[in-house]
Amino acid sequence: MAGSVELLSAELNLKKIEPLPDDFDPTAVVKDDLPPVVADGEEVKKREIVPGRNVHTTCLEVTEPDVDDEVTGERDAYMASVLARYRKSLVERTKHHLGYPYNLDFDYGALGQLQHFSINNLGDPFIESNYGVHSRQFEVGVLDWFARLWELEKNEYWGYITNCGTEGNLHGILVGREVFPDGVLYASRESHYSVFKAARMYRMECEKVNTLISGEIDCEDFKAKLLPHKDKPAIINVNIGTTVKGAVDDLDLVIKSLEETGFTHDRFYIHCDGALFGLMMPFVKRAPKVTFKKPIGSVSVSGHKFVGCPMPCGVQITRLQHINALSRNVEYLASRDATIMGSRNGHAPIFLWYTLNRKGYRGFQKEVQKCLRNAHYLKDRLRAAGIGAMLNELSSTVVFERPHDEEFVRKWQLACQGNIAHVVVMPNITVEKLDDFLNELIDKRATWYQNGKLQSPCVASDLGKENCLCELHK
Ligand SMILES: *Cc1c(COP(=O)(O)O)cnc(C)c1O
Repeated sequence: MAGSVELLSAELNLKKIEPLPDDFDPTAVVKDDLPPVVADGEEVKKREIVPGRNVHTTCLEVTEPDVDDEVTGERDAYMASVLARYRKSLVERTKHHLGYPYNLDFDYGALGQLQHFSINNLGDPFIESNYGVHSRQFEVGVLDWFARLWELEKNEYWGYITNCGTEGNLHGILVGREVFPDGVLYASRESHYSVFKAARMYRMECEKVNTLISGEIDCEDFKAKLLPHKDKPAIINVNIGTTVKGAVDDLDLVIKSLEETGFTHDRFYIHCDGALFGLMMPFVKRAPKVTFKKPIGSVSVSGHKFVGCPMPCGVQITRLQHINALSRNVEYLASRDATIMGSRNGHAPIFLWYTLNRKGYRGFQKEVQKCLRNAHYLKDRLRAAGIGAMLNELSSTVVFERPHDEEFVRKWQLACQGNIAHVVVMPNITVEKLDDFLNELIDKRATWYQNGKLQSPCVASDLGKENCLCELHK
């Protein structure tokens, strides 16, 4: 066995690892530019993002098996106990999760039999590769469903099941750039960080557009930012649900703004980032419709958010005509390369196919209605308790004053930004769960602010005066 250890250390090049420089400070922290928490006029705690926090205290070490482990069974017992404890913590953490838009309520028991297979859809979903253990038949079935939802004919669309919403954005913006190599990227400030990552990766010129207090793109500012670049085509990221406030950009107004500034349809490309609400919006009657009947180039959505899935995944749909410019034939695969990743999770399409079949259009519609109802319930109860809160009309994301205690934030896994936090009401968030959360929040808040003796923070600059309930604005 000594031989393989030598081989391993040779491969890892352990001897060549350089020592850390003398002035390296492992305790150095990267500060985000968030306002400090202020209670009673004094600064009590700075919010810091500490890279790598806790990584080593929570690490489960990998150890070499002892020679006699196989005989004693000690190792198997050890691993079984680690997994059992881990499972228990997953159950507990799943119960107290409110902040991220993941539907944790699903039952894929019927698919357990598939975990013995290495299912991989590498290459183009529509061109079978030489690798036979794939699930393209499920993938294309799912893609057809989404193409129908967004009104693009079977022979006019192209798409694939991605590894996440980010990959959809990376792909959509890449298609935009391949269509318009000198295009300028426009995205609202409240777009997901993956959009700006795409701009950096592809070295695109990028204009950040201001937002309204709701979190929607400010089309007046959009027009002002378009004008200086009239000589170059425009590539626009439109948010169908922003990450923090759940705001839906007005697609129709974005198109109108482009037209009014002199951009004809052959001079712009719109990617719709529907990671969050892409599958919820079609079921909200008042929502501006996302459809390929409008001049848009691509739409993406996350599969593990509203739909719910044990592994991250997503769907990306674009126009077939665009994809031909982007793809390359790969002899080794006997397929075509038009995706961001090489190997692709072949299990994910089967999970999505399973849910779409079980719930169907009407099932999703019911769940969306329930989420919106529960979101209103949460917002109303927060406000009734004197806590500033906002809920956009087309959204199930309730934004409110950031809870004062980080322990509480961690327990409920709330997502926070500056002075605000949010709960994204997904199908697994029941009224009972919201009641548990609210009762604890109201109870704890009374101690944080000493039953009103201390002032709770003002959230007017984040949520608007009308949604703030601080001393000044209530
Ligand atoms: C979550 C999210 C993404 C990214 O999705 P991942 O699946 O986490 O990569 C992109 N855009 C928006 C608006 C999101 O909420």
